[in-house]
Amino acid sequence: MQRRQFLRNAGMTLAAASGAALAGCMPAGTRRAVTAAGGQGPAVCLRPDALELAPVRAEVDRITGIYVCTRPFRAAGPRIETERLGDKTLVHNYGHGGSGWSLSWGSSTLALQMAQATGVRELGVIGCGALGLTSALLAQRAGLSVRIYAKQLPPDVFSMRATGLWTPDSRICDAAHAADLGPRWETMARTSFGMYQTLLGLPGRPIEWIDGYSVSDTPPGHGASEPSDEPTYGDLSDRISDLGPDSVPLPAGSHPFPQPYVHRWTTMMFNISTYARMLMSDFLAAGGHIEVREFHTPGDLLQLPEATLINATGYGARALFGDDSIVPVRGQTARLIPQPEVTYGLGMHGLTMVPRSDGLLVQVIGDTGNFNNADLTPDRAASEAAVRRLGDLMARMRRG
Ligand SMILES: Cc1cc2nc3c(=O)[nH]c(=O)nc-3n(C[C@H](O)[C@H](O)[C@H](O)COP(=O)(O)OP(=O)(O)OC[C@H]3O[C@@H](n4cnc5c(N)ncnc54)[C@H](O)[C@@H]3O)c2cc1C
Repeated sequence: MQRRQFLRNAGMTLAAASGAALAGCMPAGTRRAVTAAGGQGPAVCLRPDALELAPVRAEVDRITGIYVCTRPFRAAGPRIETERLGDKTLVHNYGHGGSGWSLSWGSSTLALQMAQATGVRELGVIGCGALGLTSALLAQRAGLSVRIYAKQLPPDVFSMRATGLWTPDSRICDAAHAADLGPRWETMARTSFGMYQTLLGLPGRPIEWIDGYSVSDTPPGHGASEPSDEPTYGDLSDRISDLGPDSVPLPAGSHPFPQPYVHRWTTMMFNISTYARMLMSDFLAAGGHIEVREFHTPGDLLQLPEATLINATGYGARALFGDDSIVPVRGQTARLIPQPEVTYGLGMHGLTMVPRSDGLLVQVIGDTGNFNNADLTPDRAASEAAVRRLGDLMARMRRG
């Protein structure tokens, strides 16, 4: 449950009951017996085999950038369907909420199957984010000649501002549509998961598995959950509960956190800078072409030479196709100077930290005012407050 909540919303309360009390600690013969920094609470014993975690240097002057983007949320889930546009076949592949990277390979596989049904040999892909790149690469692998058209390319696309975790049902639909979307979503999630396993262990670690820790002062179910001004989102994670390890409660004394409720979870992380660069390089190396071009109306697409197009314009589809079913859900991350020694993620009330190779990402979570908000202005004060809270936690962690 804890891992599921973290992965769905990268937010919420991430607590779980620890299975043992301090009574299990044995001061005599222990490697370390220290008092929680700050002098609060009783002396705490760490077990000899206690987890050791490198501290995050969570200081506001180490923030290298604050990034804002909008999740392209659709209540019914992503739009993956074929439409005729003049003499062209247009396959839509947009509206993936907070799950675009996670579902990309599976969603683009479905979109490509629809495109191939036309017998196409030359394909145009509109958009160069997570969905456009995976659509284009899969099409090349199927033997098609592909040209990407996009007004912006990485690193300037929204996809580059994502957190970078395996979050396949994060803001992917609302609860009312979960049952309908479920089977297709499961197909997409399993296809993507399988593809990501083939991308492990590569130079630059574009994809890797990490451990993370959810820490809380309150027992499970007693803290904040999803933002109060957002819909109840569909929870589909039970359909793929066999993918990846379960989360584990950590007994007191076995970890350095001051909070009583600590869970370890294990998930995939996307090092997006390396990963997107790899996708772009692979596409170009396989003979792909890219044309920087903006479309203002669907009619503009009729000028393209390809008879079949995949539309992977993400949030841009709202304006281009007048699709008001796409709701922007604002999100902001602050990036701290990378620390290669920090290899774990962290979730606590109101924030998460993800240990990407291009920077430690600190994200405010569970806050209100993001739904139907397309304002891309960074809120520096919010990110600095989150970094300070993370710094406070680091100062209170027990070290030998
Ligand atoms: C804060 C935050 C954190 C997130 N974290 C995660 C995460 O951890 N894991 C995860 O799986 N997902 C995450 N997401 C969601 C993910 O980022 C999106 O679902 C995904 O980026 C959508 O990709 P896309 O390719 O559809 O859109 P985009 O990345 O927006 O790409 C759209 C492309 O279309 C082009 N385009 C748009 N309009 C036009 C036009 N009119 N003419 C020409 N070109 C056009 C753009 O230039 C761009 O190239 C997060 C989102 C946010 C906001």
